[in-house]
Amino acid sequence: MEIKRSIISDLFKIKPIGEKVNIKGWVRTKRGNKQVAFIAINDGSTIKNMQVVVDIAKLGEETLKPVTTGACLTVTGQLVASQGGGQEIEIQCEELTVYGTADPQTYPLQKKGHTMEYLREIAHLRPRTNTFGAVFRLRHNMAIAIHKFFHERGFYYFHTPIITASDCEGAGQMFQVTTMNLADIKRDENGAVSYDDDFFGKQASLTVSGQLEAELAAMALGAVYTFGPTFRAENSNTPRHLAEFWMIEPEVAFNEIEDNMQLAEDFIKYCVQWALDNCYDDLKFLNDMFDKELIERLNSVIKVDFVRLTYTQGIEILEKAVKDGRKFEFPIYWGADLAAEHERYLVEEHFKRPVILTDYPKEIKSFYMKQNDDGKTVRAMDVLFPKIGEIIGGSQREEDYDKLLRRADEMHVPHKDIWWYLDTRRFGTAPHSGFGLGFERLMLFVTGMSNIRDVIPFPRTPRNAEF
Ligand code: ATP
Ligand code: MN
Repeated sequence: MEIKRSIISDLFKIKPIGEKVNIKGWVRTKRGNKQVAFIAINDGSTIKNMQVVVDIAKLGEETLKPVTTGACLTVTGQLVASQGGGQEIEIQCEELTVYGTADPQTYPLQKKGHTMEYLREIAHLRPRTNTFGAVFRLRHNMAIAIHKFFHERGFYYFHTPIITASDCEGAGQMFQVTTMNLADIKRDENGAVSYDDDFFGKQASLTVSGQLEAELAAMALGAVYTFGPTFRAENSNTPRHLAEFWMIEPEVAFNEIEDNMQLAEDFIKYCVQWALDNCYDDLKFLNDMFDKELIERLNSVIKVDFVRLTYTQGIEILEKAVKDGRKFEFPIYWGADLAAEHERYLVEEHFKRPVILTDYPKEIKSFYMKQNDDGKTVRAMDVLFPKIGEIIGGSQREEDYDKLLRRADEMHVPHKDIWWYLDTRRFGTAPHSGFGLGFERLMLFVTGMSNIRDVIPFPRTPRNAEF
């Protein structure tokens, strides 16, 4: 009788010693001597490999020849307490079949440690490494944690469009979406591109954010969140920017900025706690291999209260640091947008904990943010994190129709693009707030990886769209 396949992580959990089991997975290593071979098999369910012990005389040398790193096997045998150290249980092989070989001459993932840069070039194979197995299991778990967090608090998951015809977010350069023949573009009498015959009859792009539509939903469902891909064509080749990334955007009716800050803090802490509770083996591996302070940092973020201060107070601290001799690459003054180095100074050197900065100058923020009475600042809030800098950007929104309209005009946002958004302020407007969390920024923090290209399966960056 064929034995039902066991998942390796289940075997480590249940440890059905003495039972005959079957596993299927990929060979990580094979070692041994003339009499006995030890094959480490991984099936992706856990970072732990299952050791398979083969009596070579029994199975025959020929059977083992194609068993090389990367080959895929199905193995049946008795699960026993391990004789050797290093693992608790192992399988004594009775039957072994190779599903697919991996020629050692050409298989790019040999045992030796590879650089992150090299692994990016073989992104189709890198999930098979310990590191990326851990990262992608964590990525899944963070997505689950996010949905659980919001669902448990009565938020509704709301799907906002990926193709949009409005470019008013001001969040960065957009990618155009068109079916026009680029070799033969129709122009009007002034030489401008005519979109009349284009698919949507007007210029369309990939979205940079689902916020504006999420605001519409919050005015009906109360508390909503989006979780989807967003696109920015900014040509910034940094370890923190992708051209395609995932964003989580809660939007809540009747929340003021203080509620918004609390939501952001609770939200991140929940996700980090989830990782510690559910992904400890993977975190331990990343901690030991890449970042010896990772688990300590995750634990400390959960324990502390995030510091809350205004942009203006933040600038004062940074200006004082400069006066005392701290060097920054970019100049700092009231009105400047903070660079990552400034954000990290506040978090890592000055306060030594996460920081929420509020009330930014209106000139450096979007038109929809609620204007403060000082006439200079808006009710924005950025959450700044160790190693990352900005992880969340959000605000209380301007709910006053006239004020919103005036600000849109000042910032040259055309009414024809946002008439539907303005309508929320004409019909039953309400105070409300929300924010955007870059999923991969959260992933950077939780995994301790240092480049954002290494926390998404197939990164899209300038001049790179392979796979
Ligand atoms: P930054 O100043 O770091 O470029 P931003 O202010 O342009 O970010 P927002 O428009 O506030 O970003 O977007 C909300 C969140 O989305 C940010 O806090 C960040 O976590 C994430 N984010 C923004 N741009 C990118 C990007 N290019 N790649 C990955 N995540 C991003
Ligand atoms: Mn921002």
